[in-house]
Amino acid sequence: MLSDLKGDSMSRLLVIGCGGVAQVAIQKCAQNSKVFTEMCLASRTVSKCDALKEKLEKQGTPVKITTATVNADDVNEIIALIKDYKPDAVLNVALPYQDLVIMDACLECKVDYIDTANYEPEDIDEPVWRAAYEKRCKEKGFTAYFDYSYQWEYMDKFKEAGITGLLGTGFDPGVTSVFVAYAKKHYFDEIHTVDILDCNGGDHGYAFATNFNPEINLREVSANGSYWEDGHWVETKPMEIKREYDFPQVGQKDMYLLHHEEIEALGKNFPEIKRIRFFMTFGQSYLDHMRCLEDVGMLSTSPINFEGKEIVPIQFLKALLPDPASLGPRTVGKTNIGCIFRGVKDGKEKTLYIYNVCDHQECYKELGSQAISYTTGVPAMIGTALVLSGKWKKPGVYTTDEFDPDPYMEMLNEYGLPWVVDENPILVD
Ligand code: NDP
Repeated sequence: MLSDLKGDSMSRLLVIGCGGVAQVAIQKCAQNSKVFTEMCLASRTVSKCDALKEKLEKQGTPVKITTATVNADDVNEIIALIKDYKPDAVLNVALPYQDLVIMDACLECKVDYIDTANYEPEDIDEPVWRAAYEKRCKEKGFTAYFDYSYQWEYMDKFKEAGITGLLGTGFDPGVTSVFVAYAKKHYFDEIHTVDILDCNGGDHGYAFATNFNPEINLREVSANGSYWEDGHWVETKPMEIKREYDFPQVGQKDMYLLHHEEIEALGKNFPEIKRIRFFMTFGQSYLDHMRCLEDVGMLSTSPINFEGKEIVPIQFLKALLPDPASLGPRTVGKTNIGCIFRGVKDGKEKTLYIYNVCDHQECYKELGSQAISYTTGVPAMIGTALVLSGKWKKPGVYTTDEFDPDPYMEMLNEYGLPWVVDENPILVD
């Protein structure tokens, strides 16, 4: 029980961002009022924070909730808010663009930091960032705009300050990396391959919409794919590698190999793993829309001048697309996200599949959100609870595969994301 983790002592959490993922994380924190006794909900649009505070208060939450407006691109604003509110930890569920600024503020104020996605810059044409990026592409061999190097650089500074940085505690990354640590702890002497499979079998009825922030989502899926093999990256063209898989409780789906951030951390922390791949399912309609939008330049992040006003095409597109937080009532079907392992135990070859199935409509009934926000927001709460409780407190900057997976796995079962272990799975070729 969470109450065992924290007892009845007080903890104050500052949550930055109030979008689809944040709304789930905050409501889940409110369900665990023994750990999260006070929360400040801060975001750019404070009305979203106020509405959620009102909803929780109407439900009779014992958590003392306040709200604040913050521009998380401005380090001084965050520092001022932290100094004023004095939280024990900051949960960043804004956008990856804000990661470093919020980490700087946490460092300055010596407060623990938690997020769900690794840093990427908003402006990929900015010359200093671009030069570092080009160098990294050559040295490391993958071209995704995001990588862990920027946040791993905080390791020594966080150690000196005695604060914990927990990076990427969503579902993938987050839970998938915990599945790897759990498989290693309980089922394998050595893991040789990991295939991470992310299937969304949900249908929202729109011709085209994204399940989380469109800008971040479309950047991710339109990029080159890559996987980790024998200690180095192998890069592919976008959607070049396709497989079909029959997902438990969802059925047969097409899935495509993508670059994904947990591969980088797992490759570093589990050098024994010979190959790590990530696959995500997409329907043909989604892919056709995305290709068309890309071809006409709508996925560009570079500002253009339109009738005397500067606009960023992908941000304009975001304004046209349905808000991911609004998909809840209309999305039906299930997600299935998990990891398939091959390795050895006691000298014998072994395979294993650990996965979670989550039902969009069940999520909507419980919290008013769809399953993508739910599967990210629940682990954000769990990671934060483990840091606040001291179970996952370790000065420095770490991903979720670097801690004891057992309490996290227990809490997944307890807080709405139960998992299944299949010791005889169908493998991906
Ligand atoms: P949304 O776009 O729905 O929400 C983002 C929130 O952050 C909004 O409330 C937005 O404010 C706020 N925000 C944006 N910029 C600023 C700023 N400069 N200052 C203050 N607040 C700001 O995104 P999601 O909820 O879908 O995603 C949240 C995070 O979760 C992202 O980092 C995403 O990459 C990550 N994620 C991780 C997953 C995982 O499995 N690990 C899966 C899915 C998402 P406003 O309301 O004004 O726009």
